[in-house]
Amino acid sequence: MAEPASPSRDVTKTDAEWEQELTPAQFQVLRQAGTEPAFTGKYWDCHDDGAYRCAACGAELFDASTKFDSGTGWPSFTEPMVADAVETRSDHSHGMIRTEVLCRRCGGHLGHVFDDGPGPNGQRFCINSLSLDLTPREG
Ligand code: FE
Repeated sequence: MAEPASPSRDVTKTDAEWEQELTPAQFQVLRQAGTEPAFTGKYWDCHDDGAYRCAACGAELFDASTKFDSGTGWPSFTEPMVADAVETRSDHSHGMIRTEVLCRRCGGHLGHVFDDGPGPNGQRFCINSLSLDLTPREG
């Protein structure tokens, strides 16, 4: 299903183009709003320092210093690296009312944000490992 073009999008590609660039599992999550099974992704239990980038477009999304153990089986963060790295929209799929989190740069689906986080802003960004690519901190 085609997504309406957004004027804030820096990277726009067709589904066919994304399908060529991403693995089938990444495509299903990033472009079709899928969810990886809990405790299966490569980052839910990762404690390495660095910057988590969008696996589709490379935009810096989350800093490892804001990652916390949520117990959910998905990488969880208290906040994005910068506020406008991500955007949110209401998601009424699967009989739930949730807030979807997308990469602002490419529109890729990242996960959802909930208001039961441990930080000062109370947010919990619950993100699929398949949507992320960790760049370790230099030095
Ligand atoms: Fe992206």
